[in-house]
Amino acid sequence: MLYYSIFKFKQMSLSNSEIIDAVQQLCARKKLRFTAVRNNVLRLLLAEKSPCKAYTLLARLQSNKTQPTAIYRALDFLLQHGFAHKIHSQNSYLACRHPRLQHNCYFIICRHCGCVQECCNANATRAIAQTAKQNNFQAPQAFLEILADCKKCASR
Ligand SMILES: [Zn+2]
Ligand SMILES: [Zn+2]
Ligand SMILES: [Zn+2]
Repeated sequence: MLYYSIFKFKQMSLSNSEIIDAVQQLCARKKLRFTAVRNNVLRLLLAEKSPCKAYTLLARLQSNKTQPTAIYRALDFLLQHGFAHKIHSQNSYLACRHPRLQHNCYFIICRHCGCVQECCNANATRAIAQTAKQNNFQAPQAFLEILADCKKCASR
């Protein structure tokens, strides 16, 4: 519980440049290369207000003479290390707001306007682990996307 409240506080407080710094430090520590393309893709995702489609990333970065394959590879790197997430129901991508805390990230999505919020919850992670165990499965990885009405849309 304490862990969750600390994480919630951090999630609220990190600015885009603090997130870039954190990812840079994590990559250095894990001996991962945070290349210019990876950095640019993450910056773009952070700058977007809503999750980004792959073709939007391509359109923005190709003007920089970056090859599509390099952009896709950079995106894969960010996803693989939890620095970015995929919203499967929208086929779109967004930056993780708390890269220092590696855990399963969950999302709540408005069924009307499509706005997305990270809603990571240690209790949900525990319940998923328990469910997997009860069914004799190990090391579950959950992609949880909850559809709901956001505050704005609900009050319309
Ligand atoms: Zn995340
Ligand atoms: Zn998260
Ligand atoms: Zn909405």
